Amino acid sequence: MTPSRFALFPSNDREQELRLKRFLIATGAYAMNMCFVLVCWAMGYFTTKEVSGYVLLVAAINVGIYLTIRTDLNKRFADPSLTFLQLALATLSGLYLMYFGDAVRSTFLLLGVAAFVFGMLRFKTRGFIYLSAYILGGYAILIALLVQFRPGDINLRVDVLQWMALLVTMAQFTYLAGFIGNLRRKVRDNNIELEKRNGELEAALKQISDMAIRDELTGVYNRRYLMERIAEETQRCIRNGSVFCICIIDIDLFKQINDTYGHLAGDEVLRKVARTASGALRQTDFFGRFGGEEFVMVLTDTLAEGAMTSSERVRKSIEGLVFPEISGELKVTISIGIAEHARRGDPEATFKRADDALYRAKEGGRNRCVVASVEEA
Ligand code: GH3
Ligand code: MG
Ligand code: MG
Repeated sequence: MTPSRFALFPSNDREQELRLKRFLIATGAYAMNMCFVLVCWAMGYFTTKEVSGYVLLVAAINVGIYLTIRTDLNKRFADPSLTFLQLALATLSGLYLMYFGDAVRSTFLLLGVAAFVFGMLRFKTRGFIYLSAYILGGYAILIALLVQFRPGDINLRVDVLQWMALLVTMAQFTYLAGFIGNLRRKVRDNNIELEKRNGELEAALKQISDMAIRDELTGVYNRRYLMERIAEETQRCIRNGSVFCICIIDIDLFKQINDTYGHLAGDEVLRKVARTASGALRQTDFFGRFGGEEFVMVLTDTLAEGAMTSSERVRKSIEGLVFPEISGELKVTISIGIAEHARRGDPEATFKRADDALYRAKEGGRNRCVVASVEEA
């Protein structure tokens, strides 16, 4: 057994912890009643034996409930908070006092009111009716027992009158219990609605922030975000000398694809190319659509040779794509211009070099990668 088994509260079960805390509040109420009983005993209304019986009963109830919750046995009940059981046992201990209370019997009825209010807050109308029936039935049996076994200690007319007063009180409490139950339900419904709205708002917010940094057609980063990240990367490069490469990707003869298969097919090609290229990169690299059929990838902590390898991988993956949804004959290729960013260099200049390299790739026959030489920087 782990030491936590011996802790007063379970440390890993919020619900059980809450139930035990509620139970301890009830134990506190028992303790207060006990003080009152001791005062009655001191004044001679209870014998020592009767008080001892009460102490034993209360101890048995509290230890029993505590163990039931602490051993998780309560989870097998329809209502694991054991509210009804706890109130029923509290009523039983009250009836015990009333049985021996004689002259001060009615004061214990008064003490019971707190328990009724507690029940009123916890139960719906039906549950509260059951509780009322249990209490009224208990009191009726008590009166019968008193008449039978302690006829000298009961004024039947007074107790029957008290029983009727209790009935009226319980009827009013039942009405209030229903009223409070409705309020509780409304609050809960409102909370559920609020949570739903919050979820929708969060989703909308995420959509908006996504829209701000993503390209609508392809879902990859947009030009604005790419430029922001490149500016950050430039700063990082100045600070700690890290290197990065800018690679401009341009789809070859894309105009022909549009002209042959239509604009929508062209859009589908853009989507597939974007998905494939971004999937071929490392987590630390970033990729986005620069505009039209041009994309940019930024390869962090990478020298030109490494960028060439990555670009070749991307180029081949696009070359290998098939487009059965458009045409079995459609083949798409890309050209890539690569430039390594020089420390303290201007990112615009690096872009220009990558663009020139791209131009050379097109001139050289397309479907190829060309690296800008460092001397150009
Ligand atoms: P090259 O190999 O020299 O790059 O030839 P190209 O035909 O790809 O080059 P060009 O710049 O002449 O054509 C680009 C075409 O891309 C023209 C334009 O209509 C098309 N385009 C730009 N944006 C979109 C878009 O969002 N969707 C579609 N379907 N086409 C687009
Ligand atoms: Mg172009
Ligand atoms: Mg093109």
